[in-house]
Amino acid sequence: MNIKNYINGIFINPTEGNYIDNYNPSNGEVYSQIPNSTKEDVEKAYEAAEKAFPSWSNTALVARSKILFKIAELIKGKLHFLAEAESKDNGKPISLAKAIDIPRAAANFQFYANAITQFSSEAHESIGLNAMNFTLRQPIGVVGCISPWNLPLYLFSWKIAPAIAAGNCVVAKPSEITPMTAFLLGEICTEAGLPKGVLNIVHGLGTTTGQAIVEHPNIKAISFTGGTKTGAHIARVAAPMFKKLSLELGGKNPNIIFADCDYEKMLETTVRSSFANQGQICLCGSRIFVEEKIYDKFKKDFIKKVKQLKVGHPSKPNTDIGALVSKEHLEKIEAYVEIAENEGGRILCGGLEVTIPGYENGYYFQPTIIEVTDNSCRINQEEVFGPIVTIMPFKTDKEALQLANDTKYGLSSTLWTNNLNRTMQFSKQLHTGIVWVNTWMLRDLRTPFGGQKASGIGREGGFEALRFFTEPKNICIQYE
Ligand code: NAD
Repeated sequence: MNIKNYINGIFINPTEGNYIDNYNPSNGEVYSQIPNSTKEDVEKAYEAAEKAFPSWSNTALVARSKILFKIAELIKGKLHFLAEAESKDNGKPISLAKAIDIPRAAANFQFYANAITQFSSEAHESIGLNAMNFTLRQPIGVVGCISPWNLPLYLFSWKIAPAIAAGNCVVAKPSEITPMTAFLLGEICTEAGLPKGVLNIVHGLGTTTGQAIVEHPNIKAISFTGGTKTGAHIARVAAPMFKKLSLELGGKNPNIIFADCDYEKMLETTVRSSFANQGQICLCGSRIFVEEKIYDKFKKDFIKKVKQLKVGHPSKPNTDIGALVSKEHLEKIEAYVEIAENEGGRILCGGLEVTIPGYENGYYFQPTIIEVTDNSCRINQEEVFGPIVTIMPFKTDKEALQLANDTKYGLSSTLWTNNLNRTMQFSKQLHTGIVWVNTWMLRDLRTPFGGQKASGIGREGGFEALRFFTEPKNICIQYE
């Protein structure tokens, strides 16, 4: 099946007629082809978006909102179909796609359908100067949205929904590794009555199609989620053009466990925060620090639970760990196990590729726990983004905090404790954009989402995204 670009409300082939293979990670087979779009295709998408902008930006909020609600409803109606497509394209268990990915994509549109009707601006009366200031928050124009492969429709829609809700027109590119649900979204948008040109989806490689979006002189803002290296490159390209940038990048998140926590809840959640989506979530807690008092007990219980996780075909209902997203990614994971071992890391469980009968060419890997003694080792400093976590003991609060912050990344952290003072001290001193206490990945879409340090700049979520996708303009009126 050939995926097509969605430009000006219709599906079209790429100008030069070139395609890239799209693999099914569960069996390693090519099952579809996606456009290898060029600069010309991006230009077409831009022109469609630019043409749609005057009308869309002047469309009443309730009318915009109604279309977003309709998109959400259609996504919900196609839950099984979209979840199957996501699971096949990405390798994630179908149960996860059904429970998390697709419902969240619908929730993103629903949330911004509501939020845009509540978004308001400020007024400042300059008393004594006979002047009144008010702020207009106007849509930017044509904006670019570029997303990664780990949570395909979930993250694609997380950008598109606020962008169009705020009145912008969009040129969007999903990851070339997981293009399928973005392709299917085009059809849904047409069915929901989204005017042509408001959303344009161009498929292709990052270095060509993505680069063309970032370089386009009239695409005025870029919302990007992906690797830190790519984010740094995008920042370099966009800076001389003074584009607005939102960068959601990598993480090496600490999971700090104190003896005074609710142990059972912590253990169960830590299995999830380590290995959900094969550990391919930017928020996964890949560095686990455990208070020395309970270290041995935790180690034993954690290994036992992780060994029970079932690695299997993504379509099977009892599969906990599906396939990794690509062969290259599998090779990267294997290389990191070797790196860790060479640096003195001790494999406590996992560490090997898994062969699933009938799907021998799929990309399966065991959930892996590595015991380390030094936070400066590469496995603790570099983002692996797969089913590997490290564990290490600590003695004091001070040491735990120092270990947690000793990384170039600053996306999220998880803290397990029932001590209120400790909770407040860590919350204030952890250098991450998000701190979860006694929970993990509990998301309220109104909250600011994003990272510090090498995990990015800017925040998504709630009104933060609507602020990003609008340009504030101050109007100052003096009166007699
Ligand atoms: P990636 O950086 O390789 O690619 C992300 C997207 O950028 C893809 O669509 C890709 O085609 C595109 N791209 C690549 N080069 C480009 C260029 N030169 N110009 C424009 N676009 C380009 O990342 P990935 O491997 O798809 O995703 C994994 C990474 O994403 C991990 O580092 C993970 O932590 C990060 N991530 C972060 C968050 C977050 O919210 N902070 C969420 C999910 C994933």
